[in-house]
Amino acid sequence: MTTPVPQPGIMDIALYESGQSKVEGVAEVIKLSSNENPRGPSPRAIEAFRATADRLHRYPSTDHAELRTAIGEVHGLDPARIICGVGSDEIINLLCQAYAGPGDEVLQTEHGFSMYRISALAAGASSVSVPERERTTDIDALLAGVTERTKIVFIANPNNPTGTMIGGNALARLAAGLPDHVILVLDGAYAEFVEGYDGGASLVDLHPNVVMTRTFSKLYGLGGLRIGWGYAQKDVIDVLNRIRGPFNLSETQLAAAEAAIRDRDYAADCLAENARLRTWLARALAEMGVPSDTSCANFILARFADRDEAVACDAFLKARGLIVRQVAGYGLPSCLRITIGEERACRLVAEAVRDFLAERR
Ligand code: PMP
Repeated sequence: MTTPVPQPGIMDIALYESGQSKVEGVAEVIKLSSNENPRGPSPRAIEAFRATADRLHRYPSTDHAELRTAIGEVHGLDPARIICGVGSDEIINLLCQAYAGPGDEVLQTEHGFSMYRISALAAGASSVSVPERERTTDIDALLAGVTERTKIVFIANPNNPTGTMIGGNALARLAAGLPDHVILVLDGAYAEFVEGYDGGASLVDLHPNVVMTRTFSKLYGLGGLRIGWGYAQKDVIDVLNRIRGPFNLSETQLAAAEAAIRDRDYAADCLAENARLRTWLARALAEMGVPSDTSCANFILARFADRDEAVACDAFLKARGLIVRQVAGYGLPSCLRITIGEERACRLVAEAVRDFLAERR
């Protein structure tokens, strides 16, 4: 007996590799592999989370009105043009389901986030990867990669795993250069880390085919709770709401996210700490001969001599309980992506890399 055959494309999807959180034989581990906020969420979010415990028998709101209002107030956006989902992953999925299908192409950059390909293939579309130049997005290559079959272009800005950022003029050029039938998704999972960047919201206002996605998993420290959101023209939001599960977010998720985004002081503290430690760690590693591109996010992409050195350094760090991320799957085999942890974690990483290089080089 055999099991039923899934839709074409599904078996081409490689299982998503999430950052490991344990190392055999090592008691204390510090996880620096998933770009989480090392301090966790605002204490107010935890309080709000707990306060929902006596209402677990009730179905949650279907329209997420209070969370959308809070997001709208903080970002100066119309709540009617916001949709909330189970992580921004769900918004990415909904976009692919709604706008791409068999025979269509979904474009992403060479070192782009792996979820785009998973969602494209799951919707029955093809996933097309466009080369980058020195780990930065090549706008001309993206525009040249668009065909009549292209339905969606995904760009993360800042990008994961490179940490690099496309400037405002280049983004505007991309948005203006795409044909109307192509949706440009500006994935702003790390947008909060860039002072003065609106994540692409102003481009959404200018172009009916631009969509912005955001998350509570990074700056707001709620990766474990799974909350994201999108901002688009009303018609696009209406389309996505039709295929969204009506009770996709629990009251617990909604309450914690609202409390987190309203705690501006906590967010500002986390941002300042991230920026300070990111500069420190990048400089410390560069002085040892391990450079990285200037990161605009909460991680750095450390470049080693070659794949062997990166793999060996990863193992060396793991043996000390420091879990970072190999990014060969993103086409960057000689790099390690290191989340900016708390001060002690950054110092331990720097010490470990120094000890590793002293043995190796
Ligand atoms: N986009 C990018 C670029 C990411 O790095 C991530 C998380 N790794 C996501 C989207 C998805 O985040 P979440 O589903 O937790 O909101």
